[in-house]
Amino acid sequence: MPPIDAGAGRFAPSPSGELHVGNLRTAILAWLFARSTGRDFLLRIEDLDRARAGAEDKVLEDLAAVGLTWDGNVLSQTDRFPLYRAAITALADAGRVYECFCTRREIAEAPSAPHAPAGAYPGTCRNLSDAERERRRQERPAALRLRAGVTEYTVTDRLHGEYTGVVDDLVLLRNDGVPAYNLAVVVDDAEQGIDQVVRGDDLLSSTPRQAYLASLLGLAPVEYVHVPLVLNTHHRRIAKRDGAISLRTLALAGIGPGTVRDMVLRSVGLPAGPLEQVLEAFSPGQLPTEPWIFEPPVLDLH
Ligand code: GLU
Repeated sequence: MPPIDAGAGRFAPSPSGELHVGNLRTAILAWLFARSTGRDFLLRIEDLDRARAGAEDKVLEDLAAVGLTWDGNVLSQTDRFPLYRAAITALADAGRVYECFCTRREIAEAPSAPHAPAGAYPGTCRNLSDAERERRRQERPAALRLRAGVTEYTVTDRLHGEYTGVVDDLVLLRNDGVPAYNLAVVVDDAEQGIDQVVRGDDLLSSTPRQAYLASLLGLAPVEYVHVPLVLNTHHRRIAKRDGAISLRTLALAGIGPGTVRDMVLRSVGLPAGPLEQVLEAFSPGQLPTEPWIFEPPVLDLH
């Protein structure tokens, strides 16, 4: 029997379009990791950026079609602004927040600080005088940034081992009043009792920022598992133009959700079959760390 308070894993899709085989593979892996360790499995819709109408229902339908089951209610980030604001207030009370008036262009054109890694915020608004801040407030609404106390942070990932990456003065609240993804994800994972984060390895480089933010908020560290993406035969991220990559288009090519599930399972070295049945065969240590090369069937819709 798993321990009673075994924590939770999750899948946190953005409802920006149809899930593709890569998303489904990540979801299935997250489910296998969670269920094989006696954890709950939660779903969270990350809709802070514009969501497509109806996309959320479609996402849930696709996850159910490949046999995923989840616990509790599905949360949406747009319902949770008060939680994110409370976290920003806590950081501000600790002197860790400042207003930033930079446009994207100003950031791109600013000389970077000495030794600052590429892409890091150059710190333009970090030490504005009160008068200057007052003046800039008249020009445009401010975003809120973290006053980071480190420039890098190390996390441990189940597949990648120790990973050290950049931490800069990341945005906490965008200047349109919407909380930033990095903040929301950290607050949500903690608030939902999630202690195992399985997601695509395109997010590994954001993880030091998130783990640092969690440490500032006094939140417990989580276990990270960044799984390889699915690539096309040219070793690029699969995209719609490659052919059928969603359940809907794969079905048009005669490949039903059960077959898609089995293809995903085989790609991680597991036998085909309903997820509950393959759970016993799942062993995280055997996971391939290479991307899955997927050749989508070409669809002729004429
Ligand atoms: N919403 C993100 C995505 O769909 C995933 C974020 C996460 O798993 O932390 O790429």
